[in-house]
Amino acid sequence: MTGSIAKMPTGIVIFDDCDDESRTLDLQLAPFGYAVTHVAAASDLIATVRETDSPFLLVRARSPEIGADRRKALTELCEEIPETAIIFLTEQGSLNARVNAIRCGATAYITAPYSAFDIVDRLESLGGLNQDQPYRVMIVDDDPQIARYHEAILHQANITTVIVPDASETLNVMTEFRPELILMDFYMPDYDGRELAAAIRQEPAYDSIPIVFLSGEGDRDVQQRVMRIGGDDFLTKPIRPDHLLGAVLLRARRFRSLRAMMLRDSLTGLLNHTATKEQVSIALAGARRRGKDLAFAMLDIDKFKGVNDTYGHPVGDQVLRSLSLLLKQRLRTTDIIGRYGGEEFVVALPETPLSNATRVLNDIREGFSEIEQPSHIGPFRVTLSCGVATFPLNDGVEALTEAADKALYGAKRNGRNQVMQAS
Ligand code: GH3
Ligand code: MG
Ligand code: MG
Repeated sequence: MTGSIAKMPTGIVIFDDCDDESRTLDLQLAPFGYAVTHVAAASDLIATVRETDSPFLLVRARSPEIGADRRKALTELCEEIPETAIIFLTEQGSLNARVNAIRCGATAYITAPYSAFDIVDRLESLGGLNQDQPYRVMIVDDDPQIARYHEAILHQANITTVIVPDASETLNVMTEFRPELILMDFYMPDYDGRELAAAIRQEPAYDSIPIVFLSGEGDRDVQQRVMRIGGDDFLTKPIRPDHLLGAVLLRARRFRSLRAMMLRDSLTGLLNHTATKEQVSIALAGARRRGKDLAFAMLDIDKFKGVNDTYGHPVGDQVLRSLSLLLKQRLRTTDIIGRYGGEEFVVALPETPLSNATRVLNDIREGFSEIEQPSHIGPFRVTLSCGVATFPLNDGVEALTEAADKALYGAKRNGRNQVMQAS
């Protein structure tokens, strides 16, 4: 994965008359990592969605009522590629127009005046930015056959799994995989489940991760003791598939929503200050163990006070959201993105040398500066400055923060709207 920074753009097909206005929309969507293809002829619709492998279709209609040929094409699309999310962009629509859109398979309906930003926002809520990622479950079991059997059960519910046959690798794999639940064999060659659970829980970031033990152990006393030191459940092998799935899904779901509330900033959905620091220190420990680089950057919006003063606080909030959407769209799922303070963001990129990190951050900086920020006074643009530092040159979270912050300050002094590397 080293160096493979850029995420593939997400495809969007726009079904409209391909006029100038819709070309503008392309340009506005591009900074968020969406690749737009236009289709005008109803007969080309399905082939275009298929060829571009686009999860999204925007239907842009000047009048809320769309023609019979378009309606027919949409109905066919819903049958042939039902997973396509169809979004209507239209002038003010009556309830009747909305119902008609729903009959054509629309999942969302955006009325004018809308900006590209409104669209990206909606795409995100429809899953454009991997919202509904499958749960991640780590299986620690020295018996490969049993591990694979449990894995197969979990895969039926679309759960992502990793098998750790050697318990001593547990922490390494956790850094990488970030499990939301651990399914742990109780009896293993080197450690027992109780010891391993205790070791995992010593890491503050993992102190609430659900651990479900599996063993042939029928002894209630042992089970009780285990639960007391931090097991969340104890399932006895052989376990019924529906019991396993039930136990896993319930806890993984709860863990994810609790963590989201505890760790996320409510405006942007990014990691909050504390969570960011925690995740960066985990990533740093991983980089150190594996002898890899870690890039760390601080981003700060330029003259943001002026945005608030000119356009109002709610518009300022929108700008913060647009940057967070851009970061989520542009970076990999293994990257860490946090809102560090008011208009200050932190990004950590595992296994990324300084030159690559600088390139990605520069792309992001440029993309951000191209976003047309909507406001009641008309659209405007905002820039950001960024300082980037790397491990192992800067060894430790404090050192990285200080170096990146200094570089950020340098970028500001040097005229803003730029990425500066730590010296
Ligand atoms: P510089 O280019 O030097 O960074 O200038 P600046 O104006 O961006 O920096 P300064 O630190 O002076 O101002 C930051 C502003 O960010 C002040 C504060 O009102 C605003 N801010 C902080 N948090 C939020 C927020 O959640 N929403 C909004 N709308 N504004 C915020
Ligand atoms: Mg600022
Ligand atoms: Mg600031």
